[in-house]
Amino acid sequence: MSAHEQMRAMLDQLMGTARNGESDRHGVKFYDDSVCKSFLLQCCPHEILSSTRMDLGECPKIHDLALRADYEIASKTKDYFYDIDATEHLEAFIADCDRRTTAAKQRLAETQEELSAEVTEKANAVHELAEQIGQKLARAEALGEEGMVEESVKLMGEIDELRKKKAIAEQDYRNSMPASSYQQQKLRVCEVCSAYLGIHDNDRRLADHFGGKLHLGFITIREKLTELKKTVDKRREERGASERERSSGRRHYVGGRELDRRARRHRESARDRDGRHKDDRERGDKERDRTEKDRDRGDKERDRERERDRKRSRSRSRSRHENSRERSRGHDTREPRRSRSHRSSSRDHRRD
Ligand SMILES: [Zn+2]
Ligand SMILES: [Zn+2]
Repeated sequence: MSAHEQMRAMLDQLMGTARNGESDRHGVKFYDDSVCKSFLLQCCPHEILSSTRMDLGECPKIHDLALRADYEIASKTKDYFYDIDATEHLEAFIADCDRRTTAAKQRLAETQEELSAEVTEKANAVHELAEQIGQKLARAEALGEEGMVEESVKLMGEIDELRKKKAIAEQDYRNSMPASSYQQQKLRVCEVCSAYLGIHDNDRRLADHFGGKLHLGFITIREKLTELKKTVDKRREERGASERERSSGRRHYVGGRELDRRARRHRESARDRDGRHKDDRERGDKERDRTEKDRDRGDKERDRERERDRKRSRSRSRSRHENSRERSRGHDTREPRRSRSHRSSSRDHRRD
């Protein structure tokens, strides 16, 4: 990656697609079907195994660091359930690898000279010790590079012990067969990455395998899948519940026979009112106009009246008269307003 590309990738990671109008480099949003959801969750095998011996080539779906940044921001406030998509993707990928491992073992069984059960057991003892040495050696080297010298030295001590055990196991295996047979390379398949490992592979070669990008990439993918599978059933239920909730909300607001029925009922009742109460309403409207125009004047008049009332002795019959006038005016103004809001809501339903 050139310095320029590195800078660009870094900015994408930090700022997402909003950066400098880059929003349509791919012309998509992170939630589009064409975007790789495993990539958004940093576990797409196409990315993890790139430039290894098992490079899968370009992912059929879009990988874009800026879209990943967009998703990371959006997922803080909304659940997209992409862990379920990633689980299904990785499950299919690992199932495929395990089929390949089985096929490779099958091929070995057909092509390699068959050993007795006793000798097979001895060969496996050598293989297992060799693998442990290779794994620990790779780990010790990684620790050394990180500057964790003490841990690294401790591991080297364990490796020495394993080497002694392996030398004994090798001798045992060698003694169980003619020298010519022993010289033949006996292969076995790595359960993690399905690569071939030889019984005569030296420590260096095994360390390169177990510390290599291919084998470690497979460990990353397998561990991620194990983690995802722990919660996937619960997550599927949650996604189902959230979809049901959304669709029931939708049924309430758009389309459906229920809505047609309701809209018809609104139209009919509005028509009834139009026919029966047209004259009443017109009269009411005029009255209301008058009332509204007069209201301010009326309020002031009433204030003055109240002022006078306070000065005079109180009259109970007068205040009763005031209250009843208040009520009847309220009735006149409320009624036409309500019927108007009914008409507008039935218009809204028809538009839907
Ligand atoms: Zn992908
Ligand atoms: Zn491996």
